[in-house]
Amino acid sequence: MRLAILSFACGVLLLQSQAELPEPWFLGPLSLVAMAVVGWNLAGVRARAGWRVQAGFLLACAALGFVWAGAMARWRLADQLPQEWETRPIELSGVVASLPQRFERGERFEFDVENVHTAGATVPSHVMLSWYRSWDDVDDIGDVDEARNVRPGERWRFTVKLKRPHGNANPHGFDYEAWLLERNIRATGTISPKAGVKRVDEFVASPGYALQRVRARIRDRFMTVLPEAPYLGVLVALAVGDQRAIPRGQWEVFNRTGVTHLVSISGLHVTMIAALAAALVSFLWRRSERLMLFLPAQKAAVLAGWVVAFAYALLAGFEIPTQRTLYMLSVVALALWSGRNVGASRTLLWALLVVLLVDPFSVLATGFWLSFGAVSVLFFVGTSRVGAVRGWRATLARWGVAQWAVTIGSVPLLLLFFQQFSLVSPLANALAIPFVSFLVTPLALIFAAVPWPPLLQLDHWLLAQLMKLLEWLSAYPVWQQQAPPLWASLLAVFGVVWVLLPRGFPSRCIGMIPVLPALFWVTPGPPAGEAWIDVLDVGQGSAVVVRTAEHTLLYDAGPFYSSQSDAGQRVVVPYLRATGVGELDAMVISHRDKDHSGGIAAVQAAVPIMRTLSSLPELPGERCVAGQSWEWDGVRFDVLHPESADYGAEEATKPARTTTNRMSCVLKVSAERQSLLLTGDIEAREEKAIIERSPSLVRSDVLLVPHHGARASSSPEFIEAVGAREIVFSAGYRNAFNHPRPEVLARYSAGRHWRTDRDGAIRIVLAGTSDVSAWRTEHQRYWYSR
Ligand SMILES: [Zn+2]
Repeated sequence: MRLAILSFACGVLLLQSQAELPEPWFLGPLSLVAMAVVGWNLAGVRARAGWRVQAGFLLACAALGFVWAGAMARWRLADQLPQEWETRPIELSGVVASLPQRFERGERFEFDVENVHTAGATVPSHVMLSWYRSWDDVDDIGDVDEARNVRPGERWRFTVKLKRPHGNANPHGFDYEAWLLERNIRATGTISPKAGVKRVDEFVASPGYALQRVRARIRDRFMTVLPEAPYLGVLVALAVGDQRAIPRGQWEVFNRTGVTHLVSISGLHVTMIAALAAALVSFLWRRSERLMLFLPAQKAAVLAGWVVAFAYALLAGFEIPTQRTLYMLSVVALALWSGRNVGASRTLLWALLVVLLVDPFSVLATGFWLSFGAVSVLFFVGTSRVGAVRGWRATLARWGVAQWAVTIGSVPLLLLFFQQFSLVSPLANALAIPFVSFLVTPLALIFAAVPWPPLLQLDHWLLAQLMKLLEWLSAYPVWQQQAPPLWASLLAVFGVVWVLLPRGFPSRCIGMIPVLPALFWVTPGPPAGEAWIDVLDVGQGSAVVVRTAEHTLLYDAGPFYSSQSDAGQRVVVPYLRATGVGELDAMVISHRDKDHSGGIAAVQAAVPIMRTLSSLPELPGERCVAGQSWEWDGVRFDVLHPESADYGAEEATKPARTTTNRMSCVLKVSAERQSLLLTGDIEAREEKAIIERSPSLVRSDVLLVPHHGARASSSPEFIEAVGAREIVFSAGYRNAFNHPRPEVLARYSAGRHWRTDRDGAIRIVLAGTSDVSAWRTEHQRYWYSR
């Protein structure tokens, strides 16, 4: 049975890595055949069967997993926003379905659509809406006006503009579209505040909405008692699973010490709280003979643990990761309750089956792998080291072993997903896990039930002590390296399992050998004379990484999204880390506009930068001036714009809005035979000046189109003078400026078009020929752009 479940899981995994969803005519008959084979085997024929029948059975199980996941995906994707209704105003009414997440200029929430009032429009049943606040919505102390404050469970009527799910698609980037698919959010959009916003009902009765309302109340209660406390965000996250109030600096501390998992309610965390409740009930139960006669202490403990886990999962919003943990714990609880010794691996696999049946999309989530991985390691170490040891010393030793095992066991996964792990994480976790699980979280939960302010103040003080320690630990180094390929990660998992074998197994340290490729993996880079260029998909803005054999240059750092996030931290830094770029030999920031310079601080904080060139007077470094040039590993770099005289002109004409665009640093990258022109946001006047100044240098094979394809740039003379065959547009999906403009696209009729909004990140290899490819085509997934 264990192999059968594993085969089923492989089938699910195979489906989730498909570029296209299989058609019903394929899935239907496949499911019939698979069910027949499985049924025939389960009927008992298998007992006398040979390996061929056995293999057939397992294949059929895999086929069932494939069909199941395929059917679920088809059903979910069928509920979609038609392309012709994207970004058009639609009036609809429905219910606020989640805890609103506040951000600096508004809030964001999930919304169950009940009625569409605009004739002819079709809208998916579950969408995510953002409400950007204008000054009218806010009172003098900055709070949103009560009449316009959104609470879960309220029925509202809005006019919205929706888009199909879309996220940035980059190498080693976060797949936002998969995240939306797993949560069944089939469109995202904004509310038009001026057009008839109306609260229709104060509360729509349903258990789900009531639960969300309770969570909102509890969150408000935390906010009122400790409005200015620095770590309040962490306490709110621990109690109701809303992490938005945690500042970026604190996330950084958690990441660097490897305790991030503690702040998100999932896996280990719910398990610990359940275990605490079980232990407490078991301890008290054993004091009473009457109770013992009524129900054995073990059963009472299991029941208590499960109830607490269920309640906690509800409080955390019953989101996918907590549901997953709850199913896992339910299987464990059932096994313990029935008193049947089903064994650790069997329990875990049954839990896996339940999770995959309820949510076959969970294999797309990093959290799924990390939580199953961590629990498997605990089971593996726990069962293989069962000894008759008792007493606090032995308990402490076991605690240490478990910590150590989870840390070692998670290394391959952390390298695969995040390309880093914290060297102080065993120590930080050994201290933080019991402290947070047994002290901070229970206190926060007690406060949620009994709102007595001193409780929360004490809790905050305790947490502050832990944070001091973590901040101190976060100064220690973090192991960072390039993303290992999948095979190296699998090999490392095998090695880690070997290392964790029980004491007494010969030569356990040999297990370290298969881990080495993942730890020291070096991805191939360009040979001398070639330049490899990635135009990253940062939305509306630009960020381009140019790599030569020994050097790396960053041209623009991408847009600023909000005070909590920018493209530097979201896209550029993860990309640099995963490709193994430890330092930037040069950073060129074309001009001051936030869609090009928004990510500077994050990049500066992450990697040392040897040389900075820009047209921003306030940015330390050199000014870029036409005529500057250098050569790296057989690749030449030339600055074509602006001229030094332009800098004086800019100061004189300030503060004209377009002057920053006109100052854009234009950079030409030439390999032996092929070249690329990076143009920032220059306009027709600068294009003309560049052609006159350097008619031969402007000629290029690949062109990053000026100003995202805006109308005032890309004059016909410029297009003619550059003569590029590969035309790259960096623009946001359905952006408000309608970049690239249709008339500009038409002007480039001679070349092949590449667009980051449609194709994701664009890879350009300048070698003997220029070879261009798009991330979304090379790594097509069935949910892309659906
Ligand atoms: Zn721009």
